Amino acid sequence: MGSSPLPVSLQSKFQKPRTVSRLRDLKGNFNILRNIIFALFLLRILRRSFWFLRGHGIIGSIVLLYRHVHKTAYTVFLNLPGVRSQVSRQLEIAKKEMEDKLVPTGPGINRYLQLPKEPWTHEQLRTELEALAAMKRTRWEEGKVSGAVYHGEQSLLDIQSEAMKLFSVANPIHADVFPAVRKMEAEVVAMVLAMFNAPESGAGATTSGGTESILMACLSARQKGFAERRIRQPEMIIPSTAHAAFHKAASYFKIKLHTVDCPAPEYMVDVNRVRRLINPNTVLLVGSAPNYPHGIVDNIPALSKLAVSYKIPLHVDCCLGSFVMPSLAKAGFPSPWADEGGFDFRQPGVTSISVDTHKYGFAPKGNSCVLYRNRKLREYQYFVCPEWSGGVYGSPSIAGSRPGALIAGCWASMMSIGEKGYVDATHKIVSTKLTIENAVKEHPVLRETLSVLGHPLVSVVAFESVDPAISIYDIADGMSRRQWHLNSLQDPPGVHVAVTLPMTRPDAVNGLIDDLVAVVQEEKDKALERIRAGGPIEKGKAKGTSAQLYGVAGSLPDKTIVKELVVAYLDTLYKA
Ligand SMILES: *Cc1c(COP(=O)(O)O)cnc(C)c1O
Repeated sequence: MGSSPLPVSLQSKFQKPRTVSRLRDLKGNFNILRNIIFALFLLRILRRSFWFLRGHGIIGSIVLLYRHVHKTAYTVFLNLPGVRSQVSRQLEIAKKEMEDKLVPTGPGINRYLQLPKEPWTHEQLRTELEALAAMKRTRWEEGKVSGAVYHGEQSLLDIQSEAMKLFSVANPIHADVFPAVRKMEAEVVAMVLAMFNAPESGAGATTSGGTESILMACLSARQKGFAERRIRQPEMIIPSTAHAAFHKAASYFKIKLHTVDCPAPEYMVDVNRVRRLINPNTVLLVGSAPNYPHGIVDNIPALSKLAVSYKIPLHVDCCLGSFVMPSLAKAGFPSPWADEGGFDFRQPGVTSISVDTHKYGFAPKGNSCVLYRNRKLREYQYFVCPEWSGGVYGSPSIAGSRPGALIAGCWASMMSIGEKGYVDATHKIVSTKLTIENAVKEHPVLRETLSVLGHPLVSVVAFESVDPAISIYDIADGMSRRQWHLNSLQDPPGVHVAVTLPMTRPDAVNGLIDDLVAVVQEEKDKALERIRAGGPIEKGKAKGTSAQLYGVAGSLPDKTIVKELVVAYLDTLYKA
């Protein structure tokens, strides 16, 4: 039989119980471990649920749940075979319309899809460039465009071009090769820090635009949260009116985003709601000064208090406000929150500010600054790669090589305009905003149809329709037909005007008001006719672009159709 040294009966007596007891110990330990892991898991869910409930309230949570279900059901509906083909057909029509509008074809338009075999002569090139410059386009010079071109005077354009020509090969990544560009960049940052009352410790960087400045501020806050508090699931809390760049940052850097309502009548972020959404994962609070949609400055002093008491960074988005915000008081206008200590680094909780030198700083496009309270915060946005086979590498922001010419253009703009120039420009811009605002509030035709959103103090004025028979999007489309480029807003439906220097010309601003009156009157007449003919008070489907995008597609609970339209638009941009 077996070669065991012990008889079977003895083996079982001595060995088996030992194995069993060891196994039992192991199983006991495993059970304890399992229970601990389960408890931790449960705790996590409970903690998250608690934060969710505290942040949104019971009713708010139910509303969110309802919206989610509604949206999911709608997505399923949209994907039903019959519905889907109908939607696709409509999308094709919309795409075709977009192409016809954006991509001119026909006689006189040459398309170049391959390198010319023989180099063009400069003469040939000049002729073609002039033809391109003469392409049919919106005349921003006449002041009919909201935002977009902030200055546009020929003398400024000339000096910018001169500066850019001198530094067209410069690249600040080679600071030793291009010392002048390094100097100008550092000086731009220093001057902007001073305008926003940065402390001695203040630091900043230039970027390619407001979006990059915001991306950098969000990245810095996320890295700080990880380095100092080991936050692995970062969250940030922004006003619903904060710029889309914060959504981009959340998406790029995997930061969970909470958007907080900005309720009427002031349209400022609800600070109590912000407080309730703060939890141990919060890495950043945000306020705008002012926001893009309504031109409203959030309650920065109250946000600063929250930031200080919870020890969380606070970013103030002054991309749009740029040099108008620090010039308001000097131009004789009320400066937001002046009595509570201001909107900038004077507030102790403010840790970063984004300022677009390419907006009301009047620099060439492709310029912005991100400012920090101290160098450590700036360091969190840096990228350093010590092990690259191409050499030890470091860069301050997203780009590697950067256009030195743009820095020279920015520096030259700031030096040639100076404090006095910015104060004068602020005076013109804010006065024009006031003229438009007062017309909307006082003109007999406008007064009973439109209403200004909140109390805008800077360069933007937004309004909505208070007449249920008139859609604000039809007014936007009516203005487009009269060659005005205003901006449509959603939630609530509205239209805004961002006043820039070309619009401050009296003929431009008066033309705007006259056309607005005419368009509103037209819509009123149409509504009256409809109601007289026994039609509904509320308007049906509208035809214009704004009305379709916001009124029709935008009112659907699921945004896939809007998304597909945007993708089609972006694709159209690259149609050669
Ligand atoms: C324009 C703007 C930005 C983003 O700026 P870009 O230069 O377009 O990237 C950010 N915030 C506000 C309030 C803006 O108006």
